[in-house]
Amino acid sequence: MSILKTVTVYQCDECQKVTTVKSNEEFKQFEAEWHSSINYDFCPPCQMKDTTQARIIEDNNNLAAIDGKFAEIENPLKKILPDSKCERCFDSGVWLTPRNKVEICPNLQLGLNHQSPNIASFLFSRAAHQLNEISVWVSPFCFELARILTQYSAENPCPHTALIDCFYADTNLTQDEKQRKLEGLFAELKEVWILPIGCRENEPKGYWIDVNQKEKT
Ligand SMILES: [Zn+2]
Ligand SMILES: [Zn+2]
Repeated sequence: MSILKTVTVYQCDECQKVTTVKSNEEFKQFEAEWHSSINYDFCPPCQMKDTTQARIIEDNNNLAAIDGKFAEIENPLKKILPDSKCERCFDSGVWLTPRNKVEICPNLQLGLNHQSPNIASFLFSRAAHQLNEISVWVSPFCFELARILTQYSAENPCPHTALIDCFYADTNLTQDEKQRKLEGLFAELKEVWILPIGCRENEPKGYWIDVNQKEKT
């Protein structure tokens, strides 16, 4: 026997409408349109209803909690952003779900005590949301790098060595390979995310999201 085709059936927990997903393309479309998470599935119209909002937030929080458990084990971001208050978004106001969706930080959505995202975070969040809107897969590395840089500035650039450490400390890459990979991430932030990246070339070399550069253009 061989499996010719797999069909997954999803049912809306609000109106009981059913949809079938038969291919990757269909799954992508399903993911973009439906709320489908740990406890609940909601079809596009039901997602917008007042009656489903509490359950959607509950789902997002459960997902965040699972993600948070992983983060507790060892989150290298804690080292590079020691002053950030929110462990979910590192004060940037957004996070990337395991389903590659850019979403407002659940703690902000819940109205919990939260730092106001700064201007760099606003630029970052807008760029990330735009990528989601045009259905570009958001590279989690680029997302993290940009998010780190939102918390740094021209006066206090993020040290180059700290970034290499944060992303590649536990890899077997050579120093040159690490350097090339990091440069690749920066290129993507500039060319795909269109983010203004500030860089101090003289030692100690460092980076930040250059809010002023954006205003000039
Ligand atoms: Zn429905
Ligand atoms: Zn947050």
